[in-house]
Amino acid sequence: MPMVLCDCHVHLASYEAQESYDVIRRAEGANVKTIITAGTTLETSRRCIELASSFTSVYAGVGIHPNRVRGFLKDSELEALERLARSPRVVVWSETGMDYLPNAPNRQWQEQAFREQIRLARRLRLPLVWHSQVTEPNTAGQHPETLRILREEHAEEVGGVMHYFQADEATARRAIDAGSFISFAKPLLRQPHQWAIAQKLPLANIVLETDASPQPYKPSRADWTEPKDVALVAQKLAELKGVSVEEVAEATSRNLLRLVGLHS
Ligand SMILES: [Zn+2]
Repeated sequence: MPMVLCDCHVHLASYEAQESYDVIRRAEGANVKTIITAGTTLETSRRCIELASSFTSVYAGVGIHPNRVRGFLKDSELEALERLARSPRVVVWSETGMDYLPNAPNRQWQEQAFREQIRLARRLRLPLVWHSQVTEPNTAGQHPETLRILREEHAEEVGGVMHYFQADEATARRAIDAGSFISFAKPLLRQPHQWAIAQKLPLANIVLETDASPQPYKPSRADWTEPKDVALVAQKLAELKGVSVEEVAEATSRNLLRLVGLHS
């Protein structure tokens, strides 16, 4: 049987319609059989659900990205999110979290949105795919703040994924203790800092992603990251761990499919 890969976090709703279909087809051709597309607003969450209803490989997340909060989330917005999250093929709450970069939205707005979304995810029994972007990548940075909110809101009840991992080992361990998988992406290919961490963490705690979205700033379209590239992340992780890429594919796919209730 050919190996099967999963991409736990992409932004398919950010592409033009035809392009998103092509991206999905190329991923399917590269044995990426499960793609979870993340919403960032009500509108893109809706679009994720549409895509998930059209492609057997695609499942949807619903959520408001920390960089897209424009004030405290209103009850009407939370109700709309909840309705969307109850749609067929929604398997995660994604994307939510905290962003500590200087130009990110007001911290109190972000925190209220994050807490309310964790509560909704718990009510709907959806695992949380969470973002935590800090001012100094590859350090603990402000991650303890994000983890404190997850703990205070009992996110471990539903579990989840620390997406696009770029922190230190202690943070990875704390995220795992808080019920989350560590999701490696293409930075693993180029950031030696992550190699020792990837070697030490058990495969049982790891999932893979690309966080793919359009990258018009790259001169060549062929260089845009796409879900098919999750194979590169799997290959790198296999090299680092001294195991076969099939073993990495099998373990990370099983981890994700179990988390989201899509048993293989
Ligand atoms: Zn994302």
